[in-house]
Order: sequence, then C-alpha cells, then structure tokens
Amino acid sequence: MAQVQVACDKCGAELVSDAAYCERCGERTRRARRMVRLAIRVEILFFILVVILVIGFTWIYAAQH
Ligand SMILES: [Zn+2]
Repeated sequence: MAQVQVACDKCGAELVSDAAYCERCGERTRRARRMVRLAIRVEILFFILVVILVIGFTWIYAAQH
C-alpha cells in the first residue's frame, strides 16, 4: 500500500529509511508530507468538535434561562 520512498523528490539524494527530511536539501519526504496533511486534518476535526461543544453548551445555557 505505502511505497517506500528511496530518493528525495527535489534533489534525488538517497534517503535514510523512515527519514522525514532529506539530509542534503532538507525537503520533506512524501511520508512526512502525508503525516503533516493528516495532522492538519486531525486539527481541523478537533477545532470543529470544540466549536460544536461551545455552540451546544451555549444553546443548553440559553435554554435554561
Ligand atoms: Zn533532497
């Protein structure tokens, strides 16, 4: 499923296995970019959850008064 990236996309330098960055030019590996996208998605989901909770509690508070 996940193919192992052996060389840097930018400069072509050989990558250490499980590296997040290229040692020569500092470019993120595909795996690291995927992790960043995943982290952003989780953050957005968490933000939406907090917004829903705030709206929910505001609504409950407003309904009680
Ligand atoms: Zn590179």
